[in-house]
Amino acid sequence: MSPTALDAKVTMYWKDQPLLDEEQAFLESFFIVSAFEKATSADGLTKLSETLEVYAKVVPADGEKCDRCWKKRTVADRSAEATHICDACWEVIR
Ligand SMILES: [Zn+2]
Repeated sequence: MSPTALDAKVTMYWKDQPLLDEEQAFLESFFIVSAFEKATSADGLTKLSETLEVYAKVVPADGEKCDRCWKKRTVADRSAEATHICDACWEVIR
């Protein structure tokens, strides 16, 4: 199967502005990716704008695909529950 956005991790770097936890969750949903992180420098990233100091890269996300949200996450062994889902989904359905 071809990779989708949900197989990706987006890394971005911009100056002088922290990334808040709620912004991280929003940006994962916004980009429809498995993970979003803010880098501590622009090393290895591509500049996105001529005028803005914003950089990014997209790489395959780590982890296994969650059966519920299809994000690639660390999926705990829940064989006793016969399910293969990530911690975030487990919190929602249990
Ligand atoms: Zn999940």
